[in-house]
Amino acid sequence: MADRGASGSPDILVLGGGFAGLAAATALAASGARVLLLEARPYLGGRARSWVDPESGSVVDNGQHLFMGCYEETLRFLDRLGTRDRLGLQPRLELPFVEPGGGLSTFRLPRLPTPWDLAAGLLRFPGLSLAERIGLLRVARDTRRQARRPGGAPHRGAPGGDLDGTSVAQWLASLGQTAEANRRLWHPLAIAALNETPEKASAAMLVPVLHRAFARGAAGSRLGLARVGLSELYAEPAAHFLKARGSEVRLRAQVRRVVFERGRFAWALLADGARLAAGAAVAAVPAADLLEMLPPETAAGAPFAGLSRLEVSPIVSAYLWFGSPITDLPFAGLLGGTWQWMFNRRAFGGHAGGAHGVTLVTSAARELAERPVEFLVRKALDDLHAFFPESRRATLRHSLVIKEKRATLAHAPGTLALRPGPRTPCQGLYLAGDWTATGLPATIEGAVASGHACALLAREGRPPS
Ligand SMILES: Cc1cc2nc3c(=O)[nH]c(=O)nc-3n(C[C@H](O)[C@H](O)[C@H](O)COP(=O)(O)OP(=O)(O)OC[C@H]3O[C@@H](n4cnc5c(N)ncnc54)[C@H](O)[C@@H]3O)c2cc1C
Repeated sequence: MADRGASGSPDILVLGGGFAGLAAATALAASGARVLLLEARPYLGGRARSWVDPESGSVVDNGQHLFMGCYEETLRFLDRLGTRDRLGLQPRLELPFVEPGGGLSTFRLPRLPTPWDLAAGLLRFPGLSLAERIGLLRVARDTRRQARRPGGAPHRGAPGGDLDGTSVAQWLASLGQTAEANRRLWHPLAIAALNETPEKASAAMLVPVLHRAFARGAAGSRLGLARVGLSELYAEPAAHFLKARGSEVRLRAQVRRVVFERGRFAWALLADGARLAAGAAVAAVPAADLLEMLPPETAAGAPFAGLSRLEVSPIVSAYLWFGSPITDLPFAGLLGGTWQWMFNRRAFGGHAGGAHGVTLVTSAARELAERPVEFLVRKALDDLHAFFPESRRATLRHSLVIKEKRATLAHAPGTLALRPGPRTPCQGLYLAGDWTATGLPATIEGAVASGHACALLAREGRPPS
């Protein structure tokens, strides 16, 4: 029998305090439910969190996180918390790419109605021949076509789902993209969006990103960064939000097992032996953790049995602090660099600390993730010197390397069908997380959308108390 506590059971347990769990919990609390959120670690935020780096005194995230104007569910979540103004979004998309030596080519969206803005932006993209630029339009056209054809049942209606057997590289080749168009534009975008190489990533996951960014007006393609640390953007405000509405957040509360009685969620067993009963549970933990907490016979059945085949992909970030500025660019893709992106932390204000902070990021970083920190810092300096020659004069004061080895799903072809939706065959158990079937790659927006979807279902399915 589970503990009920002095004030009775909560209406709903939310397991996991990342973007997905906090979005679910706050949406439920906003509608009057009493939520108990259980987080295994001593802090909230999961794979998107911040802390103060003791040596520099700066607030650092566990890796640079980029937001987009089309992150509608995320913006709704931040509105709920009252922290949307802590996110800085560009007025209009500008995406600079730098070559070794400092040559700059910027992808811009001109002020024209959609879809002419994208067409004109592609036709004006510098560094490509006219034929190559006209060729870029084929990708825009096919994205629209694919997005109008939702995938079949296994793909749960994901736009472009029919492409899940095709890699990004194959899709781009089928649309006649040249090596230079791939090098300068498509590959950097695909790797950043999917955290996977174009050869290994499913085209079905690039289509919805391009479609959402460009099909619904220029506002969707704007890029944004948090002006504060990620924990201050959403994790701490979400905890306050919950407490203010009579809900509870418990840290260091690792769920060992979810227990069903008569086919319905009944209670959660914690690592310290506590048993917590509730009317329903939203599991918002990574897939591997979910498998551990399910009874083995449940984990062996649909839709859970395929989850062990989901693979993960790392992201490596290097934070560097200099005595003088490195560049005026707010951020840039580094074409051909060991590091793929540079973020100039000064340009986005807030949490850069005293010195001139630069963050370098590489996605799908399987090789870098195995390298020693000294090697990565040396490569970071090599890249900065090569791409921003002025930086040779700047003195490095401090560095910090963060390896997130399980940063996101690896979106290999065939992965879409393995990702389950929010409903499960177990009554009262709902699934959230960036890895669930959100129709998006594993991103903040997918995580938040999945949390919101679970909140809706859990509210509808709650038995009368
Ligand atoms: C370095 C890096 C850079 C990224 N960049 C971007 C970006 O630019 N843009 C973007 O959109 N996305 C980005 N992402 C992806 C984004 O961070 C994730 O999609 C998102 O944070 C996932 O949220 P989540 O709630 O689904 O999972 P998580 O954040 O993993 O949350 C799950 C939580 O469950 C907890 N938990 C696990 N097991 C248990 C248990 N047994 N009991 C209780 N709690 C448990 C975990 O401790 C964790 O807090 C990036 C990710 C990383 C790592």
